[in-house]
Amino acid sequence: MDAFILRNGQLAQEDSPDLTETDLFIESGKLKAIGPQLPAVDGVPEFDVTGRVLLPGLFDVHVHLREPGREDKETIKTGSEAAINGGVTGIVAMPNCTPAIDSGGMVQSVLDIASRDARIPVYTTGCITKGRLGKELANIGGMHARGAVMITDDGDPVGNHQILRRAMEYAREFGLIVASHCEVKELSGVGAMNEGEVSYRLGIPGIPAESEEICISRDIRLAHLTGAHVHIQHVTSGEGMRIIERFKEDGIHVTCEVSPHHLIFNETHIQDYDTHYKMNPPLRRPEDNAILLDGLKRGIFDVIATDHAPHTDFEKQLDFGSAPFGITGLETALPSLYQEFIKPGHFGWDLLVKRYSAEPRRLLGHDPVVFKEGSPVNLTIFHPDKETHFTTSFMQSKSKNTPFLDQHVQGHVEMVVLDDAILLDRLTANAS
Ligand SMILES: [Zn+2]
Repeated sequence: MDAFILRNGQLAQEDSPDLTETDLFIESGKLKAIGPQLPAVDGVPEFDVTGRVLLPGLFDVHVHLREPGREDKETIKTGSEAAINGGVTGIVAMPNCTPAIDSGGMVQSVLDIASRDARIPVYTTGCITKGRLGKELANIGGMHARGAVMITDDGDPVGNHQILRRAMEYAREFGLIVASHCEVKELSGVGAMNEGEVSYRLGIPGIPAESEEICISRDIRLAHLTGAHVHIQHVTSGEGMRIIERFKEDGIHVTCEVSPHHLIFNETHIQDYDTHYKMNPPLRRPEDNAILLDGLKRGIFDVIATDHAPHTDFEKQLDFGSAPFGITGLETALPSLYQEFIKPGHFGWDLLVKRYSAEPRRLLGHDPVVFKEGSPVNLTIFHPDKETHFTTSFMQSKSKNTPFLDQHVQGHVEMVVLDDAILLDRLTANAS
C-alpha cells in the first residue's frame, strides 16, 4: 500500500492543548496532504479513523535491549518490535550488556545488529567506565566516533567522584550527554524497595530516597564544575526532583526523565511481594507520585522514558530480595499514561507528545516529528476507546515482567507508519 488516505483523525501536537480534526494523505512515505476534507484520489484507498488520535511516533531514551549477552531476556530485534507494538518509533539502548558496551567496537557491533534486525532507528549509549566497573574510564572518544549518543553506567552509579569528573570533561569535549543512574551504593546496600514504614512492615531491606538524592546533587554539581550536560535518569523521589528544579532555576544545564511506573505505582503496591513492582531506583511513597506528576506538568521533567528492563520469568519468580530489578515498559507506556493521566484530565495529549516524542528527539539533537505537507511520515494511531489486553501473546518483548501482565488497559495502538513502511497495522485489516 504505497498511498492511502486517513479520514477524520484527531491530530495531537506538542504546542496545542486541543486535538485537531484532520485527514492525512500518505504517499511513498511522505505526507502528501494534510487538512480537513481532502479530496478523494482515484485508486487511493481510504480508511476512517474517526475518534482515533494521530500522534507523532514516540521516542524512548532509556531502553535495555540485553543484546549481546542476555538474548534469553531480549534482543535488539524483539525489543524494537516491542517498541513498535507500543507506538514507539525510536529507542536508545543502555550499555549494560554482557560484555558491556564500553568500546568503539562494541558500539559498532550493536549498531550493525540494529541496522540488520530493527525496523526503527536504534541508538546506543556507551559506558562511562570499562566494564561498568567504576574503576577506569572507557574509551569515550572511540565510542563517540562510532556513534554512541550518551555515556552512562546505567544500572550503577559511578562511585568515584574524580572518575566521574574526568568522564564529564571528556564528554563535554565530544558534546556527549552523561546520563546518570543516581544512587549511593553504600546507602542502598542490599535494599530491595523504598525504605520506610512499608519496608519495615514487609521485612524487606530498604533503599532510602537519600541514596538517590545525594547522588543527584553530586552529579549536577560535577556537571556544573566541568560544563558537561548531565541527564538524570529515572527520578523517583519528590525531593530528588526538587533538587533538580533548584539547579535548573539557578541556570545550570541539566535534563531529567521520569518513568511511567514511578508516576503510576508506589511502594504500597508491593504488599503481596510481587516482584513486578521491584525496580531500581524503587517505587517511592504515594505522595511522591503526586509530586512527580506535578513536576511533569510544570515542565521540570524534560522527557518521559520507560527504563524498559526485560527479565526472564525464572528470575522474576525468585523471592523479592533475590529477583532482579526492573520491568518492561515499551508496550504499556502509551495506554497506561492515557488511562491514568490523559483520560482523567491530569494532563493533555500535548504534554505526552512534548515529553515522549518531541523533547526526547531534541535531547539527541534531532528534529521533532512534524505533520506538514512533504514531511516524512512518522505516525502512531491510537484508539482511546478500545482496550489493550496485555497477554503474553500480545506482547512482542521476549520478557513479560510487567505489572500490566494479563491486565486490560484503556487505549489501543492501531497503526504505526514510519517513512514508506507500515510497521504495524491493526486498523486496515479490520476495516471494511
Ligand atoms: Zn538506571
